[in-house]
Amino acid sequence: MPDADDTHELFRKSCLRFAEEKIIPHVIEWEEAGEFPRELYNEAAKDGVLAASIPEEYGGGGGDMLHSLVRTEGLLPCGSTGVVAGLGSLGIALPPVMILGTEEQKKRFIPPVCRGEKVAALAITEPGTGSDVAGVTTRAKKDGDDYVISGSKLFITSGVRADQVTVLTRTSEDKHSGLTFFIVEKGMKGYSVSRALKKTGWWASDTAELAFDEVRVPKENRLGNEGSGFVALMQNFQGERLGLAFMGHATAEVVLEDAIAYSKERSAFGRPIAGFQVTRHKLATMATKVLAAKTLNHSVARRVLAGEYLVTETSMAKNFAAQVAQEVCYEAVQIFGGMGYCRETRVERLSRDARLLPIGGGTSEIMNEIIAKGLGL
Ligand SMILES: Cc1cc2nc3c(=O)[nH]c(=O)nc-3n(C[C@H](O)[C@H](O)[C@H](O)COP(=O)(O)OP(=O)(O)OC[C@H]3O[C@@H](n4cnc5c(N)ncnc54)[C@H](O)[C@@H]3O)c2cc1C
Repeated sequence: MPDADDTHELFRKSCLRFAEEKIIPHVIEWEEAGEFPRELYNEAAKDGVLAASIPEEYGGGGGDMLHSLVRTEGLLPCGSTGVVAGLGSLGIALPPVMILGTEEQKKRFIPPVCRGEKVAALAITEPGTGSDVAGVTTRAKKDGDDYVISGSKLFITSGVRADQVTVLTRTSEDKHSGLTFFIVEKGMKGYSVSRALKKTGWWASDTAELAFDEVRVPKENRLGNEGSGFVALMQNFQGERLGLAFMGHATAEVVLEDAIAYSKERSAFGRPIAGFQVTRHKLATMATKVLAAKTLNHSVARRVLAGEYLVTETSMAKNFAAQVAQEVCYEAVQIFGGMGYCRETRVERLSRDARLLPIGGGTSEIMNEIIAKGLGL
């Protein structure tokens, strides 16, 4: 993208190289297996593509928020959003530690994840509440110096193999100011993975339901004061939603590239299918939509990076890119014909993966509610 400076462009290229060398040769196998090897976290850490936006003092790459966004652009050509999302779960799990944690907690919970030694996940959604995030019922009850956590969480990315989970709990009845984050660690008594979920897409990313059966957690694992969770959650959502917006235009860009190449190779009625005006016009419209989504996303990201708090625009970017991804993936599959329905093609995999975009991180309907509020409605 023209407005990305050299460090972002260089970083996007290193991520692309990582995708080409370390992911693409195995991607179909990992998709079918429903997971990628744990060692990939270590390799990504060694190659500097795991924790780009975390400060160096905590083991990250010391980049800014745009580095983690262009990372998605660099990795997505691997053709598995599941790998990108699985490797990226620290991007939503660690910000609450960065925002609310003490120095001691940051030193304890962040560096092992940045080194790829521990996997981190974020657990907000519950079987009984998703869009209404402040409706969480997983309870943390104070008991001496500890808290006892009971409840369950659903759809947790990297939840099956997470070593530490940033969990949103209820510490008082007040809807918004009764929410508090804790770090729950693998091995704590009463904490377990109830099941791994089978999904439409994101096959290589594990997605879990988690159970908390009176898990005793020391107060040293509480992030911030009691009741500080909601504000940190809202801040975290901004990063997550921009990340999903970038996933949208990056997905659309990859399938567009494949569709253009295929339209030149594939012949019907004695000519390449790109020779039919209907195909060319389809591709022209797809390319226009990709450019519009990418331009909007980069513009919002740049302004956020400059210090603006853009809740409305971030929701617009997420919705627009999610919609563009659906439309461009649909047409790419159509251009591929039968091959677009076969798992060996990127367009097939990415078109399934893209269906998550209007759902995850806040649905399109919830984004529209936020946008309407921003319009004073
Ligand atoms: C693959 C995957 C990975 C995920 N990863 C994580 C994760 O790592 N951590 C985590 O905490 N969560 C995660 N999620 C959960 C995700 O954020 C939720 O699925 C999402 O927020 C929607 O919640 P829900 O599924 O409960 O839908 P619901 O809230 O039940 O919504 C159902 C429908 O009702 C609509 N609706 C609800 N309220 C309104 C309203 N006020 N106005 C209009 N329409 C409304 C919704 O838009 C939707 O269409 C993941 C989900 C998936 C599928």
